[in-house]
Amino acid sequence: MESIMEEVVIVGAGIAGLATALALKRVGIRALVLEKAECLRTTGSALNLFPNAWIALDALGVSHKLTPLYPPLTTGSITDVSTGAVRQISLTGPFSGKREGPRPVHRKKLLEALAEELPPDSIRFSSQLASIETEQLHSAKDTASLAVVHLKDGTTIKSKVLIGCDGLHSVVAEWLGLSAPIHSGRSAARGLSVFPQGHGLGSSVQQFLDVGKRAGVVPLNDNEVYWFITCQGDHRTYDPSTIQKEVLEHHAPNFPSIYLDVVRHSDLCSLSWAPLMLRNPWNIVVGNVSRGNVTVVGDAMHPMTPDLGQGGCCALEDAVVLGRHIGNSFLANGKSVVAEEVARALGAYVKERKWRAAGLVTASYVSGWVQQSGRNWWRQLLRVVFYSYLFVVLARGVNFDCGKLPIAKAEEGEVEAESSKLD
Ligand SMILES: Cc1cc2nc3c(=O)[nH]c(=O)nc-3n(C[C@H](O)[C@H](O)[C@H](O)COP(=O)(O)OP(=O)(O)OC[C@H]3O[C@@H](n4cnc5c(N)ncnc54)[C@H](O)[C@@H]3O)c2cc1C
Repeated sequence: MESIMEEVVIVGAGIAGLATALALKRVGIRALVLEKAECLRTTGSALNLFPNAWIALDALGVSHKLTPLYPPLTTGSITDVSTGAVRQISLTGPFSGKREGPRPVHRKKLLEALAEELPPDSIRFSSQLASIETEQLHSAKDTASLAVVHLKDGTTIKSKVLIGCDGLHSVVAEWLGLSAPIHSGRSAARGLSVFPQGHGLGSSVQQFLDVGKRAGVVPLNDNEVYWFITCQGDHRTYDPSTIQKEVLEHHAPNFPSIYLDVVRHSDLCSLSWAPLMLRNPWNIVVGNVSRGNVTVVGDAMHPMTPDLGQGGCCALEDAVVLGRHIGNSFLANGKSVVAEEVARALGAYVKERKWRAAGLVTASYVSGWVQQSGRNWWRQLLRVVFYSYLFVVLARGVNFDCGKLPIAKAEEGEVEAESSKLD
């Protein structure tokens, strides 16, 4: 059986894992990324990235590869399906701050943009984490523990730092003692539709609300449209044609033809249906988000419902903040990863992130509940208050600036501390 020693091991090559590996690379630290799948996984086909994500992608040095491909969304509309009332919304202003509006991107392109910046062989595919132990380290500089990870294929890897980016059902979060994610009572179907002759929807995002349902169409470019629907209940359908049929015939038969037409044009390979889960926000605030040299990033820390489109954006913020704390520790210790010092850096990362993450989990859940709840007078009043005041307050949160990284000039073997939020 293979036994390997690494400085930093990251579990999961999703948005969080790849962004964390890149943040560490930019501060001069090599990390090994373990991914259970055989290649980069792109379930969900597309996602919206708000200004906070673009600020993080700037810090990671990859935003320039994506912005020319995806124009920003500037306007949107929300249609009440039963009354036909339409409310126009601007996606500039509170949604974008001084930057442009949100941009929808292909997940595959985002993952590839991050992965191609990593050194060769930094991602080890078909490598599923099965269990974790710790082992005491006694060296001249270090008295902390090593993380020992056991893979399903029998390989053992020891590392000074273990970062769980293994998503919703995170083995690392479970090892830390975080509570299991809870079901929000809703599920979402989503997919990508292709219009070779053009979709003619412009660059405006359209949402449709009905009791217990929220759906939308989001143009990615002139030919592709991302669509979604969130419904009450726990639907677990995996067959693509059944997903399409269920949406058209059971969940949205009364929706405007513009929505139904987009669903009919779906690329069947892109369809998925997922229960919407979240972590109890209080558990993020008071639970063990790190223990010694082990922590979690992205959905492994803060699974949230997609009602504000913030799960992936928040994962990118986490990666930059964690990279900055580990990077500062690395610089302060003569460019070496000292396990005891890194444990302190992970503690500082958690302190900086836990309230932000818990706030977004709560805000996303409340936003979904208000928008999809029933039609009696007080719920309608709540919706008016929500769109007039709360929506604007929540929208400002998507302009969050996670700060910068200390940048490593790898080719010169020199590390240079750049302006850092904490400096
Ligand atoms: C319907 C829906 C719509 C959404 N829309 C948006 C949006 O518009 N904008 C936005 O920002 N976010 C959105 N999100 C949230 C976003 O998809 C997630 O927050 C994001 O994908 C989290 O990335 P991650 O890397 O933390 O986890 P994941 O994407 O789940 O990646 C985890 C990776 O770890 C691997 N892995 C898991 N277990 C192991 C193991 N034991 N060993 C090795 N590897 C393992 C997995 O194979 C996977 O590659 C949406 C979510 C849903 C459900």
